[in-house]
Amino acid sequence: MLNESCINTETPTAAYVHIPFCRRRCYYCDFAVSVVGDRRHGENSGMMEEYVDFLRSEILNQRHFGPPLKTVFFGGGTPSLLSVQQFDRLIKTISDNLGIASDAEISVEMDPGTFDLGKLQGFVAAGANRVSVGVQAFQDDLLRLCGRSHTVADIWRAIDLINQVGVVNFSIDLISGLPHQTPEMMQESLDQVLSINPAHVSHYDLIVEPQTAFGRYYKPGEFPLPDDQTTANLYRQAQKCLTSRFKHYEISNYARPGFECRHNLVYWHNQPYYGFGMGAASYVGGYRLTRPRTRDRYYQWLQSSGGAGVESLRVFHSADLAPAPTEAIAIILGSDILLETLMLGLRLASGVDLVRLQQQFGQETVSQITDILKPLGDRGWVEVVSTQEEPDQPATPHLRLTDPEGFLFSNTILAELFGHLQLSETSTAIGTSAV
Ligand code: SF4
Repeated sequence: MLNESCINTETPTAAYVHIPFCRRRCYYCDFAVSVVGDRRHGENSGMMEEYVDFLRSEILNQRHFGPPLKTVFFGGGTPSLLSVQQFDRLIKTISDNLGIASDAEISVEMDPGTFDLGKLQGFVAAGANRVSVGVQAFQDDLLRLCGRSHTVADIWRAIDLINQVGVVNFSIDLISGLPHQTPEMMQESLDQVLSINPAHVSHYDLIVEPQTAFGRYYKPGEFPLPDDQTTANLYRQAQKCLTSRFKHYEISNYARPGFECRHNLVYWHNQPYYGFGMGAASYVGGYRLTRPRTRDRYYQWLQSSGGAGVESLRVFHSADLAPAPTEAIAIILGSDILLETLMLGLRLASGVDLVRLQQQFGQETVSQITDILKPLGDRGWVEVVSTQEEPDQPATPHLRLTDPEGFLFSNTILAELFGHLQLSETSTAIGTSAV
């Protein structure tokens, strides 16, 4: 039996802030971003300044009656295109209105070639204590083929700056499955990562979205993209190499102990979070909301809602009033919460706590899930293990995917699970709307 008590209505203690500007659009990217400036002339500060003002107004209008934030994540886009003053103003706005705990994790995505020593020092002085570097590959040919705005030399300069400033908690992003990428190139990139020895590594598999340049140029599975077998082997290769140094704590993420990304763990544990900025998603009061994906519509939405932002959407969805000019989506979830809890929780190496799942969704649901997954357990893709999540808590049975084979076939496993799960319709999707 599912019911609305499954909905997590706690006050968020995590905030995502979207900075939708990039030097150029990478050929595989379908994120909500605008291209600004260039390496020679710098950024169009007018456009970014205007955005920062709107963003601050949205943050200021968020009512918050809980403890100060434990995590803040500046993602994009390329947040490192912000000036130190703009970043500092945003941090102060968040701190003044929502509060930021003294030991909060404050992450910033920073691309090689978009910051110098002064900027990194300024961001750190303003409060940033975790940096995520969008490296992607260590071959200039591959970076060019992807439309990245940086070179391998920029990567090394960025790492040097991070070390100079003494940012210990930094992460490197790598992508596999790029056109013309060979296992030898992948190994070279992995070896370089090991030589840098960051605190954290994210390894993503390229997804070719139809509306991107790659979607027009290439067909998934066909040369110069790798076939499915090669893609799987690249994942295994990365897993083998990275687990020699790091803990593989999430399907795409590796960390030295204690350096798991606390902000992203909020998503994977399906806990509430604020989202601010164009295209940003939030999960507040049981509502998932996605803001408009263009600057004009985002500004229009903020202006028409009188800055009430999320609150205006709540009114619309509960009272069926005329929509705000936004494609925001609001969902109150019943059965969706179960699916999301499984989909997100099974990304984690620790898996899903079956005792908690039983408390939330009932024994019948848990039995169904374990029955459906039994054949996949026999194939070695799924297992139930006794896990202690916190040192002071008792160990409980957790359902998890095996590493690497279960992780590799996670889409197949979830399709099998969701295809067979009989969901009780006492789980009510109260409001689902694309405005
Ligand atoms: S830097 Fe990131 S967000 Fe910007 S275009 Fe490239 S992939 Fe997209």
